[in-house]
Amino acid sequence: MTTRSPETDLGRTRRARRIGRVLTETHPDAHCELDHSNALELAVATILSAQCTDKKVNEVTPKLFARYRTAADYAGADRAELEELIRPTGFYRNKTSSLINLGQALCERYDGEVPGRLADLVTLPGIGRKTANVILGNAFDVPGITVDTHFQRLVQRWQLTTETDPVKIEHAIGALYPKRDWTMLSHRIIFHGRRVCHARKPACGACTLAKLCPAYGTGPTDPVAAAKLLKGPRARDLAAAVGIDPDLVPQQAVAAEVP
Ligand code: SF4
Repeated sequence: MTTRSPETDLGRTRRARRIGRVLTETHPDAHCELDHSNALELAVATILSAQCTDKKVNEVTPKLFARYRTAADYAGADRAELEELIRPTGFYRNKTSSLINLGQALCERYDGEVPGRLADLVTLPGIGRKTANVILGNAFDVPGITVDTHFQRLVQRWQLTTETDPVKIEHAIGALYPKRDWTMLSHRIIFHGRRVCHARKPACGACTLAKLCPAYGTGPTDPVAAAKLLKGPRARDLAAAVGIDPDLVPQQAVAAEVP
């Protein structure tokens, strides 16, 4: 049996960069999956996305955004009406309170505008650090790392950090990549977590990162079994990228809602 010497910091950084490059090729369609056209809409959508799929949020927001256009609209919202509009996203009473409080705080402290600084964003009701980074990266073009459940699981599987606290993970991963790449890297990692490297049964046998991943084998390595685990509209392209016959990916996988 051969024993491998522990990976050096330089070795880990190089492997991290390679993972980043492979993810860029694997997920050319990576983007923020919450539909929005400005910072306020993204802040609202992110609050609604707690314990809810992005797809469900995107079903609700067109009507919501047409009715509530400004922070003042949320500040003065009729609670019952707002609750009804966002009810399908779950926890709608709490979320309604967050949206009204957010609108009031923006009007009172920021002239009704969403601020573009992390330190200000995290003082707003319903906006934690993760949400703040989503808003910075996608509405203000300020590079930000979004440590959600997928991001956390994947960077730990890749052994890029041993940290478990999201803020420490954010700093540890940030140190491995150029700042300008942070926002897109976050989208690509989250895309991979939703479509390939699932929490319970990752599609290891159909994963473009197999050679770079210390957790290869956590899920099925057999290509036929793994192909069935791929998800989303590009599931067949993902299979083809690792040399698997795309026809092995069932139609329901292509149509499947990503978590
Ligand atoms: S090889 Fe498996 S555990 Fe590693 S990233 Fe791919 S799907 Fe996830």
